[in-house]
This record gives sequence, structure tokens and C-alpha cells, in this order.
Amino acid sequence: MIVTITMNPAVDISYPLTEFKVDTVNRCDIARKTAGGKGLNVSRVLHQLDDPLVAAGLVGGALGEFIKENLAAAGMRFAFSEISEATRNCVAILHDGKQTEILESGPTVSESELVTFYQALNDLFKEATVISISGSLPKGAPTDFYNQVLDLAKLKQIPVVLDTSGDSLLAAVQHDNKPFLNKPNAEEVAGLLGISEIKNVTELKTSLQSELLCDIPVIVVSLSSDGALVKAEEKIYKVDIPKIEVTNPVGSGDATVAGLVSGIYRGQPLTDYLKKAIVLGMLNAQEETTGHVNLAHYDDFYRQIRVYEV
Ligand code: ADP
Repeated sequence: MIVTITMNPAVDISYPLTEFKVDTVNRCDIARKTAGGKGLNVSRVLHQLDDPLVAAGLVGGALGEFIKENLAAAGMRFAFSEISEATRNCVAILHDGKQTEILESGPTVSESELVTFYQALNDLFKEATVISISGSLPKGAPTDFYNQVLDLAKLKQIPVVLDTSGDSLLAAVQHDNKPFLNKPNAEEVAGLLGISEIKNVTELKTSLQSELLCDIPVIVVSLSSDGALVKAEEKIYKVDIPKIEVTNPVGSGDATVAGLVSGIYRGQPLTDYLKKAIVLGMLNAQEETTGHVNLAHYDDFYRQIRVYEV
């Protein structure tokens, strides 16, 4: 079973508008509301792949209830810990081919709520074979909270796929117990190494060979329409993808993580799970709905992916 962890989920609201008018009233006929947050996007794609999962994390208040109802309606298993402050809303206004987002920072969690969650994870990990951690930490959680999850996973010998950013990512890569796989984008790699920008694949390759990252077994740097650059088995691989029509790339990184987690869960070889992950990212980019993929196009894209050593 896969356990996904979403520490700061959200109810994602999207308002499609023909035109977005500032400083006046905008009316919207259709508002889409879904359980969101990176880890829940990962969970939805895993569910579409028929991989068994339990979504864990923290929820509170009426929006927390909404998230549970939304996942239950989709037939997904979850085991959230309840917190006293309310889960957040994140709003995306879709207008003129653009997306304007308003992201609430969300609830502040207490130390005792984190302890309760950690104990719940301890139980859940008895059943787990892969753990997927995505997204930012809520206010109140220490920056090294994911390190505690890495320690628990290490104790139980469960591989962790980590997709976070900023200080919690830096804390995890510097920790003794590393994630098995990390999926940053190029900007996040630059942030980790304290450099302002990584300009090309050659620079990225050098960055992936830095001492800070050397003990993480697999690093998959997703490069949007350029595919990915991967460090694994002491080698660097480039993943090339065909050009495709894109509708909404938001959540493509999460769909990619779902593919990586799924491949590891199923014991697939590296090249196979890389292809799977990149194809799922592409399929998500072709959909309007974040965390949704149309698997009818899977095989066609899969055949066109090239993975080669650089
Ligand atoms: P993140 O959202 O984490 O920054 P990316 O934007 O790199 O992740 O997207 C993850 C994957 O989704 C890419 O490796 C690619 O497979 C696919 N993808 C994303 N954007 C595009 C695009 N514009 N064209 C083709 N594939 C894309």
C-alpha cells in the first residue's frame, strides 16, 4: 500500500471567467471545488492507476469535512488527523488563457496535533510499502518535520518519495536518513545549492553531481516541455518527450510524482517508471482538471519517450 502525506491540503476553487475585471464584480456560473494540495493531486492520479493508497495529512473545520467527502465520493481511502484550525481554500481565477491564483497560507498546527499525527503515521506505516510526501508544511510545524517522517520510514525500511521546496527540502537533503527519491524542478535545485539560476542541461548535470545531493539514490528534475534530467545509479539520464498540446500544466509535477511512486510500488525498473512518470505529467498538462489524466493516450505517449545517459 502507498501512503501519501499532505500536511497542508486545500479546497481548490477554480472560477473560469471570460474576462477578469479588476475593482468591480465578476460573476461566475460554474465554480469547480475539489480536494487539493500537491499530495492529494498525487493521490488522485495513483487512484486512477488503480494503485492502493491511503491519503494522510491534517484537516480541520468544514473545509476539512469537504475534503473527506470529496475523496470518499471518488472511492479513495484516507486517514487524516483532525486539527482545531480550519483547512484553507485556494482560489484560481481562469481568464484570458491566464491563471490568477490566491493561496491562503492555511491553519497553524499545534505541537500536540503534530504528535497525534506522527502516532497515526506510525500505525499507517505498518501497512505501507512506499511513502509519498508532497507540498509545504503548515504554520506551526518545524522545518525539519519531514525529517521525522524520514526517520520513521527508515526504521520500517520504507522508501520515501519527497516533493517539497525551500527550507524543508534543504533540511531533508542534509538529514542522515535521505529520501529514496526527490523530485525537484530546476529552480528548486538552484535554491538548494544557493545559486540564482541553472541555465541549461549541462549546468543542471553539474548541479546534480554536487556533494549535497550525492547520497540521494534517485533525483528526478522535471523540466516541463523539456522532459526531465535524472540522477540514478551514479549516472545522469536525460528524458526526452515529444511536443504536445497543453491545456493546463498545473499539477503536472504531482502527476509525475504519482508515476514515480506507482513504479516503485510495482517494482518496475528505473527506465520504465521514469517513462511512466513523464507520460503522466504530459497527460495532466493536457487536461483542464489538476490531478486528472486521460489514460487512453498513455501508450501512444509512452512509445515516444526516450531515456538515455548523458
Ligand atoms: P512542476 O509542476 O513540478 O514544476 P513540470 O512543470 O516540470 O513540474 O512538469 C512535470 C512533467 O509534466 C514534465 O516533466 C513533463 O512530462 C510534463 N509537462 C509539464 N508541462 C509540460 C508542457 N508544457 N509540455 C509537455 N509536457 C509537460
